[in-house]
Amino acid sequence: MSDNDINKIILPYSISVRELAEKMDASPIEVIKVLMANGVMASINQNVDFDTAAVVASELGFEPELETIEEVKPEDVGEVPFWRRVIADEDEKDLKSRPPVVTMLGHVDHGKTTLLDAIRETNVAGGEEGGITQHIGAYQIEHKGKKITFLDTPGHAAFTSMRARGAQGADIVILVVAADDGVMPQTREAANHAKAARVPIVVALNKMDLPSANPELVKRQLSEIGLVPDEWDGDTIVVPVSATKKQGLEDLMEAILLVADNKEIKANPKGEVLGTVVEGELDRFRGAMATLLLQNGTIKMGDTILAGKAHGRIKAMFDFRGNRIEKAGPATPIMVMGLNDVPKAGDLFRVVESDKEARAIVAEMEAEETHKSSTPKISLEDLFAKLQAGEVQELRLIIKADVQGSLEPIVNSLTELGEKEPEVSIVILHQETGNISESDVMLAAASDAIVIGFAVEADNAAERLAEKEGVSVRLYTIIYRLIEDIEKAIKGMLKPVMVAKTIGRARVLATFSVSRFKVAAGCRVLDGEIRRNANIRVRRNDETIFDGEIGSLKRGKDDVREVREGFECGIALKQFHEFQEGDILECYVIEQEVI
Ligand code: GDP
Repeated sequence: MSDNDINKIILPYSISVRELAEKMDASPIEVIKVLMANGVMASINQNVDFDTAAVVASELGFEPELETIEEVKPEDVGEVPFWRRVIADEDEKDLKSRPPVVTMLGHVDHGKTTLLDAIRETNVAGGEEGGITQHIGAYQIEHKGKKITFLDTPGHAAFTSMRARGAQGADIVILVVAADDGVMPQTREAANHAKAARVPIVVALNKMDLPSANPELVKRQLSEIGLVPDEWDGDTIVVPVSATKKQGLEDLMEAILLVADNKEIKANPKGEVLGTVVEGELDRFRGAMATLLLQNGTIKMGDTILAGKAHGRIKAMFDFRGNRIEKAGPATPIMVMGLNDVPKAGDLFRVVESDKEARAIVAEMEAEETHKSSTPKISLEDLFAKLQAGEVQELRLIIKADVQGSLEPIVNSLTELGEKEPEVSIVILHQETGNISESDVMLAAASDAIVIGFAVEADNAAERLAEKEGVSVRLYTIIYRLIEDIEKAIKGMLKPVMVAKTIGRARVLATFSVSRFKVAAGCRVLDGEIRRNANIRVRRNDETIFDGEIGSLKRGKDDVREVREGFECGIALKQFHEFQEGDILECYVIEQEVI
């Protein structure tokens, strides 16, 4: 090592006086003195920018260098939404340009709603005939002859699933950051969601009209979360705006079109008709109404659609202004009437042949759901198999810890582990102190990640959502164990812990012979359900007298997959025929324990 290297010091875009002093092994007072000599008054906890810190460092005999920040590129992480995969499968020659779909994310009160309204008022051509002005959850504007579709989904709740999924439906996310308030927890979360959905981000630096706006500081904060402004040689366009003064909106539209042009946003107007549900509501007079964002194909009046589990023929169709329309193409927001139920925001919709086909698909979906509701999407136990099968190439984690002091060693050890194991990359999507919250689980569900908690708990709401979405949440209290588990998982050495879970009970009402040696039991399901592909424990006088597989399950003469509480059924077991009236049959499945 030469003398030069010894004096080199790597500094971030922004650093507190205390940290700067620590890095140089100097006293903070010394640093403050040098700052004062250069005309900068700063207290020990105040941040100074790189240029200022560099002057101090040079005066104290160091060679300062700007830290290079590794940007997480949207295309590096996250799952590709289903509709994008459909478009990717279309024949290149059928693909036509379509308007980009844009959604706004950001911290509460940073101005998303105001900005959406300002853009609508400024750009939506006025004087339209016959339109009912109403919020349908999406609108389209025209800028210099090019259309842009905005998903208009305000809501001040912390981070609703709509917004989590909003990022999935969009091509571009506008991250709204108030210039007087800077990067806040939901700004970070929103950026993570956008990255997880592989959607590029344009930052709208809002409230620039306020005297307290501090754009330079906010840009530094943005750099710290991997969004380095283009003026600092990064990839993120940061546009200063004022939603209330309607300033900078043109520049924002330009930026969106620029990003859209680079991304070649396309769809096949003649292809499979599908998209995302933006909003659903029950109208007292018109029945179930749904706002849909069409992502591929052309939808027409009279088409039968399946949206989530709701279905029906389109009886009437409106554009975002409320005008009746007959058909619509890709990236168009529409409102439809005629569904039998209200679909949920974020549900996928598509056009099907008939109501009959829709009902058959719904039945399949329901059977599938009962089947896999308790199997995690991805867990450490099945990671290795999925890696081997090429289904996943990386392990995505969300890490929550009690204090910063434990978060850092965990993240460092995991990064080291990732470097040692070339066959898998470990991607930490989000790291933070605090209990595991609903929004952590939501992010994990949206991006097929595992949530790791160290010395923290999962909130009730988070637990419920994890169960529903099949997200694996693992809690640890010893760092070594945590790292060891992950290492084992990568190497395929982590054995799943299997547990028996009782899913229902039935009482034997009668017995009858089905053949010379086989006896079946006529039963009533007392609670839960009996499933054909599950196991049965035969309980008599509080003792288990047999434990084994089901041979057949019938309702009347029909073989069935399951029988629910309150219904009668016939059950035959593969190796047990000595049923007695009054026996209790406990039905259970073996599944992986979710820690
Ligand atoms: P949201 O929670 O992100 O949707 O934020 P809102 O759009 O509801 O805005 C929150 C508050 O900030 C409101 O009182 C707005 O009037 C105010 N606001 C929004 N944009 C601006 C702006 O550009 N300048 C100023 N001064 N205030 C703004």
